[in-house]
This record gives sequence, structure tokens and C-alpha cells, in this order.
Amino acid sequence: MKIAIIGAGMAGLTAARRLSDKHEVELFDKSRGVGGRMSTRYAGDYEFDHGAQYFTITDPEFQFLIDAIADNGCATRWDSRGLYLRDGELTKDTGRPRWVGSPRMNVIAKALAQGLQINLGRRVSSISGSAGNLSLAFEEGGSEGPFDRVICTAPAPQAAAMLPPNSLLQSVLADVHMHACFALMVGWAEPFDPGWDSLRVTDLPISWLALNASKPGRNPAVPTLVVHAAPAWSDNHADADRDWVQSIMLGAASVLCDRKLDQAPHIALHRWLYAYSNAGVGQDCLIDPDRGVVLAGDWCVGGRVEGAFVSGRAAANHILASD
Ligand code: FAD
Repeated sequence: MKIAIIGAGMAGLTAARRLSDKHEVELFDKSRGVGGRMSTRYAGDYEFDHGAQYFTITDPEFQFLIDAIADNGCATRWDSRGLYLRDGELTKDTGRPRWVGSPRMNVIAKALAQGLQINLGRRVSSISGSAGNLSLAFEEGGSEGPFDRVICTAPAPQAAAMLPPNSLLQSVLADVHMHACFALMVGWAEPFDPGWDSLRVTDLPISWLALNASKPGRNPAVPTLVVHAAPAWSDNHADADRDWVQSIMLGAASVLCDRKLDQAPHIALHRWLYAYSNAGVGQDCLIDPDRGVVLAGDWCVGGRVEGAFVSGRAAANHILASD
């Protein structure tokens, strides 16, 4: 079969790797690089993992995959000094071991992407046709196809925009809420130590701070801080003036770092409109059998990197089983 996969993040790449032994697979992604929300932002010598901060592992197959990537030096555990500030009390931020891409988050996707046919900078505007005769139309014009099957791994609201209004999957998609997240990136000239590598916070506009350079493989001489705004706060201010958002986040982060962050040589803000969803849809992937379209992504399984893997695997397994 000829299969198109929309999205080259964890879900799309996982599906593609499973299917490409047996089928002809072509990926399309609107971005300039692979990885989706497992991404890295560059600014001169500064590098920031400004999306996914780390991931945890419970699924044995996901562990197997990450172990293989780790053997090639592209993934490693981040044994961080994690603290949690709740109700004015500072405690250890405990939980499962944290894993990161090394030396940056996006290398995991780059490792998965090897040998796959990937078209970057191609934004799909619609999916049309039915199983065996599907085509993709692109925002910049033109179309690709026919494909026998399409797997779409875009965040739920973006997937909804690509499907016909009468698709039976639209009603499920309408119930998926994905939170926004503002990511503030701050770079300094010289290292500083606030006493933690990551700080989880409640009851403030910001919910997370991390010294990016404390992750393995990063250059500690180029200190970088990533600050994430809380999901509800980001949703409420998603369209607010960016300078205002930045100043509120800088103010809150400065207090927590005991440092005047607005004097840092590098400050940048990124808005993730569809950052994460907390609830899943009750299925690892969504299937429209008549149209031959499968929807996958972290949002099917309650968000997070491991959820994207689980969902991408489910999409591929569905197609392999229906072969
Ligand atoms: P994505 O990575 O979003 O991939 C979807 C791809 O589809 C993207 O590359 C996009 O460019 C492409 N696309 C969308 N629309 C189109 C279109 N029309 N045409 C073509 N391509 C399209 N998870 C954790 O486990 N731990 C964390 O600490 C964590 N922190 C996070 C912090 C932030 C700020 C954000 C944003 C996310 C975080 N996550 C975290 C979530 C994690 O990043 C995601 O769960 C995971 O990366 C999702 O993978 P995916 O493949 O499902 O989707």
C-alpha cells in the first residue's frame, strides 16, 4: 500500500518506522525540521528545548526503542535536581526517571527519521477521497496522491481542519481540548545556580522552569533557562500582547531565580497554541474505515511523548492488521 503520514513528530515517525518495512510510506510536515513538539530552538550559541522538557517511560516497547536510541548516544537519563514549589513549600519533585534527547531534544526525532521519505515545509490543508484513492491538498497549492491510507498525527484541532466537515471523526475531535503554553527562553553570558535544575510550580502564571544546560550533553558554559506558563494562564492569555506576556513571565521567573532576568542578553518567547491535552479519547487512535483515514497523536492517549509513541504504534498496527 501507499501510505501518507501527516506530521513528523513522535507519533508520525513511530507509525512510519513500523509501516515502512512492508509499505510505501511518505511523510509530510509543515515545519522546517522533524520532531514536532519535541523541538529545539537555536539563537546564536544558545539552544533551548522549548517544547517537551523530558519524557518518562512505562511501556516496554517504548523503553526498547529509547534504549536503542540511547545506545547510539542520542537519548539519556536526566538525573536532575528537581524541586516542587507548592503552597509556599519546597519539596523534591519525585517521579519516574526523566529521559531527554542528547545533546538536544530533537535528535530523537532525527534518529527515528533516518531512511524515511519526509517532505518538510508542506502544510496539508485537506484530506479528500476514500480508502485506496485518497489525496492531500496543500496550503501552498498543489496536491499529492493517490494514497491507499492516510495517517494524520497533527494536534486534534489541526486534524479537524483537514478532514471533511461530515467525517464521522469530527464529533470526537470537537471534544478534545488542547491547552496553549507560552515558552520563555532566557540565555546568559555566565553560568548561575539557583539550587535546582528544574522547578515545578503551582498557583502562579508559570508552572515550570528548567536550566536547559543542566541536561546531559548540553554546554554548561552557555547557560539557558526555559520557563513555561501554566496551561490555564496560557489559555486565558493566548491572544494577549506578547510583550506583556513576556514581562509577566520574566517577573515571576525572576523572583523564583532571585535574579533580574530582564537584563539577560537573550530573551525570546514562543507560543504553543496546541501544547498538550490532559484527557485522552478512550482509544489509542481514531479510525474512519470507509475513508481509510487514521488519526493519531498524543491527544488520543492523554498527551505526552510516550502517549504519542503509543498512538503512532496503534495507528500502524491497525493498518498492518487490516492488510
Ligand atoms: P507533534 O509533535 O505535535 O507532531 C505533529 C506534527 O504535525 C508537527 O510536526 C506539526 O508540524 C505537524 N502538522 C500539524 N499540522 C500540519 C499540517 N496541516 N500539515 C502538515 N503537518 C502538520 N511531553 C512529555 O512527555 N513531557 C514533557 O515534559 C512535555 N512538556 C511539554 C511542554 C510543551 C511546551 C509542549 C508544547 C509539549 C510538551 N510535552 C511534553 C508534550 C509532547 O511534546 C507531546 O506529547 C509530543 O511531542 C506529541 O507528539 P505528536 O507526534 O503526537 O505531535
